[in-house]
Amino acid sequence: MYFTPETVALVTGASRGIGRAIARELAHCGAKVVVNYSSSAAQAESLVAEIQSEGGQAWAWSGNVAEEKEVVALFRRVRGELGRLDILVNNAGIIRDGWLMMMGTAKWDEVINVNLKGCFLCTREAIKIMAHQRQGVIINITSTSGLVGQEGQLNYSAAKGGIISFTKGLAREAASHGIRVNAVAPGFIETDMVKRMEPARLKQYIELVPLKRMGRPEEVAYLVSFLASPRAAYITGKVFTIDGGLISV
Ligand code: NAP
Repeated sequence: MYFTPETVALVTGASRGIGRAIARELAHCGAKVVVNYSSSAAQAESLVAEIQSEGGQAWAWSGNVAEEKEVVALFRRVRGELGRLDILVNNAGIIRDGWLMMMGTAKWDEVINVNLKGCFLCTREAIKIMAHQRQGVIINITSTSGLVGQEGQLNYSAAKGGIISFTKGLAREAASHGIRVNAVAPGFIETDMVKRMEPARLKQYIELVPLKRMGRPEEVAYLVSFLASPRAAYITGKVFTIDGGLISV
């Protein structure tokens, strides 16, 4: 067990994929977990039931991270019903790929709003609670696309690159309040997001991975739970790549 029984964690976009694995792992490590979702209520509730059946505590609370009113209401609920917030994982994310010449403004805005603005809104509400406690950990899920820039998804690359600078700046701003902030940059991880890619293109990408396979959501979750734990007490403002050796940054 990494966490004390009082520890409260909130994972955005935790109904499916990487977020789901992170929420499950934080619960395994002893935290109480808020499973945030936008539309997949049934999946979020099934994760809560799974955590509860293993003796943990979890709640499935909806909230579109791109909508300010919904984010404010979500964090008000966390403060009101759980009384504290120790760990925030900004995981909610979407892709809407396309070549820049043909990219409509709506596709650009949607990706920036969920990935980058969502991270800003949730973090702003979280640090109000954490600063008051003089303790907290924030982990932002970025992407290798945000580190190297990926053709065919410049909206996503820009959003994820923004999250990296946001992480580094916030780590400096929040350190005096006892808050640590880090980012995790996965490569290809086996989730719905990647399964939607054209199979031939995905096969080509996997060939570029030295370990010759996609990562599993749990493998990202183990890194996140370590960074959230007291064992990582001296780590802040850093980006950790988890990509089977794909990029050299
Ligand atoms: P996924 O399987 O598509 O799951 C996305 C999750 O985000 C779902 O739980 C979804 O919930 C939630 N979500 C989407 N829009 C939301 C919103 N507006 N508000 C709240 N929740 C929202 O994606 P994933 O692969 O697990 O990706 C998770 C994170 O890892 C993302 O930030 C992604 O960019 C990043 N990442 C993934 C990979 C990869 O290879 N899979 C690589 C690098 C980075 P609902 O279904 O309820 O909407």
